[in-house]
Amino acid sequence: MDKFARDLLAWFDHSGRHDLPWQHNTSPYRVWVSEIMLQQTQVNTVIPYYLRFMASFPDVSHLAAADEDRVLHHWTGLGYYARARNLQATAKILMQDFNGELPSTTTELVALPGIGRSTAGAILAIAMHQPAAILDGNVRRVLARFHQLEGWPGKAAVLKEFWRTAEEHTPGTRTADYTQAIMDLGATICTRNNPACDACPLCVKCLALKNGAVAELPQRKQKRQLPVKAVQMLIFELPTGEVQLEKRPPQGVWGSLWSFPEAENEQTLKLKLDKMGASRDQIETAKLIPPFRHTFSHFHLDIHPVHVKLVTQPDAIGESERSIWYDPGNPAELGLAAPVKRLLKTLRGTL
Ligand code: SF4
Repeated sequence: MDKFARDLLAWFDHSGRHDLPWQHNTSPYRVWVSEIMLQQTQVNTVIPYYLRFMASFPDVSHLAAADEDRVLHHWTGLGYYARARNLQATAKILMQDFNGELPSTTTELVALPGIGRSTAGAILAIAMHQPAAILDGNVRRVLARFHQLEGWPGKAAVLKEFWRTAEEHTPGTRTADYTQAIMDLGATICTRNNPACDACPLCVKCLALKNGAVAELPQRKQKRQLPVKAVQMLIFELPTGEVQLEKRPPQGVWGSLWSFPEAENEQTLKLKLDKMGASRDQIETAKLIPPFRHTFSHFHLDIHPVHVKLVTQPDAIGESERSIWYDPGNPAELGLAAPVKRLLKTLRGTL
């Protein structure tokens, strides 16, 4: 074990976090779910989601057999819903081909939906005590700064160097603790902004600290201007308070989540109303709600909501597999697209 790992473990033993929910009753399933939730999301946000998820889907078989809407409902608010869909897809494969267990090699793990090399490493190291390296965002930051590794880790050659360094430090013993320790250091001490270098067990040898390069590392991708798209979201509300939701196709943004019907401009709004068989008499009011922007990784979406209060339910919209009347006062367990949650709050006047 090198000095880097020894210093990190000594720090973890007295100052690291040991009471996170996935650190108890450790199993490959519990570690896998936690790792997937922790991608892109902070520990404190993840904890309540993780506890609810585990209460509802305590093992691979429960997750594999669950209704997709119920799984997505447990993910509502966490974002990046492909993670939830991949979790369930993998659970089904595990039931079919692996006896309900996660496999114990990197090659088999990375062949499963949603499991990359770093997640595979975490499962192997934390739950199976194998000397596998991980390289999530926190670990990348620690290594970039400690070794003053230049270059954007999204580039293959730079990434290769990061993996080489990660593997070099990963010890053959206490790998599970080491893995938790380096993730913990990145999350609590070597944070993206204002890292607590004074409290860091690696400060003596940290090259970025020595050379005043902490703030620039790890290097970020050059920001490019994101394109802007616009859409009208149509909130049809019945006198009894239910609103119409449609299930989105599995591919694309908010895949398989429920959202409001959309129109691209006023012309299509009129067409939509005609298609619904809604006559003018059935519309009590149609009000514009102030527009807002939702940003995806690859574009901005300017959402222009229209709240249409109906006097009666139009003949052409019944309930089907892809369209429902949703009661916000007594909500069904569904995965909702982020703007739907926001707009329902707006309608209830709680924003
Ligand atoms: S000394 Fe500072 S920059 Fe270097 S690893 Fe520790 S917290 Fe990160």
